[in-house]
Amino acid sequence: MTVGNPNGEYLLTNECSIIEHMQRGTMRISTDDDGTRATVAHALVSGAPVVLSGVTVPGTLLSGLDGRAASGRAASGMRTTDIGIAGGRFRRPADLAGARRVQAAGWTLLPGLADAHVHLDKTYTVSETGMADGTLMGAIRLHSEVSGNWTRADHLQRMRRAVTEAAAAGTRHLRTHVDCPRPPDQMPGWQAARAVQAEGDVTVQLCALGALSRAQDADFTDRCRQVAAAGGVLGAFVAPGQADRALFEDFLKGAEAHGLDVDLHIDEGLHPGPASLPVLAEAVLATGYKGRVLAGHGCALSLQPEPERARALDRIAEAGIAVASLPRTNLYLQDRSPDGTPVRRGITIVHEMRAHGIPVLFGADNVADAYYPLGDYDLLHLFGEAMTVAHLDQDPDGWIDAIAGVPARAMGLDGGRIAPGAVADGVLVQAADWPGLLTAPVAGRLVLRDGAPLKEDFGSIAVTQGDMA
Ligand SMILES: [Zn+2]
Repeated sequence: MTVGNPNGEYLLTNECSIIEHMQRGTMRISTDDDGTRATVAHALVSGAPVVLSGVTVPGTLLSGLDGRAASGRAASGMRTTDIGIAGGRFRRPADLAGARRVQAAGWTLLPGLADAHVHLDKTYTVSETGMADGTLMGAIRLHSEVSGNWTRADHLQRMRRAVTEAAAAGTRHLRTHVDCPRPPDQMPGWQAARAVQAEGDVTVQLCALGALSRAQDADFTDRCRQVAAAGGVLGAFVAPGQADRALFEDFLKGAEAHGLDVDLHIDEGLHPGPASLPVLAEAVLATGYKGRVLAGHGCALSLQPEPERARALDRIAEAGIAVASLPRTNLYLQDRSPDGTPVRRGITIVHEMRAHGIPVLFGADNVADAYYPLGDYDLLHLFGEAMTVAHLDQDPDGWIDAIAGVPARAMGLDGGRIAPGAVADGVLVQAADWPGLLTAPVAGRLVLRDGAPLKEDFGSIAVTQGDMA
């Protein structure tokens, strides 16, 4: 069960055994608050009330708990505080008299993270598709050539890998788009995603993605019904420069009739001319659509001249549309030319949107497919990349909710806060400032569900020699 190393430590390799030992109390780990990962994990797995002492939390994600400014010079906006955990929820330490205190200085606690824009039906397929020419249309062509061969089982295997990796990195909620050129129940990717939805430690919300013109198809009502049956979201792809106000209204009316939220791929291009997002906003306002609207990409807005840009932002805000910015695919697919260096970043105008009160989130989008051959499901790494692309570094604390509460709310879910009474989902990362947090390896993190470590997280817990009874 154990493997020794020269430092007198043991690496536990049998996760079931360690859990059994912990639950039976036959394994002892030092309880003198040494702040190691094993100590924290052991305290939490016991189920007894615990207070994490001196833990760091980004200030905007902390609610209803006191804290003092973190001392690190690269920790702007972070707070240092004590946080109780009991009964699967975060608690005020004052309400947990006699609870075991565990030294958590040097650790940052984040709430469960959320990614509202991924494509699990395409993920990890780049070795089959090959890498495209780097354009959106090239990726669509390449993907279409092979995706018709994929079975439900093929999808299931890849989706499980993605969800497992997302969970290990600290993700609690995922929304996946699934290509649905036919009604969703006929699509192997949709069938697989529904199976994964029922399985794991991550909420998986499904969005049926098809061309916006599907709203005029004879089977549009069937599409809406099947999406509703999966607790899903109605998706649409709006080809660059092809916004049609009447079509948007048909789409929104269909969604409304079935109680569906909507999620659109829109303005994914840097073509000159009017952007489509303002047209969507007008359609939302004209129809009085009451559901949530999430709009992904919005690249073309970055090219809009003033005063059209300011007017567009006003209307998007008035319509209550949230925006998913997807920096990796934008950097890869936008401003592509066969023999030149890209200049325009493609990312939408996230600072201006936030200043207009538009909720902005960041998503991984494509991971290891024809649309983006690299990437992963680690939202902290993604946030670090977004920081570089969009210059979020002057206010990381103001932006960190873009991978926590903003996407959770866009999905109609609670979460994204460390607050007394909130479900104790989250992730502990061994870092106490922004550079440390955003470059921390996944392997050293401790993911919490209902106040206990994820079972999968016990694969490599180091404990000191002599800790075993
Ligand atoms: Zn996408």
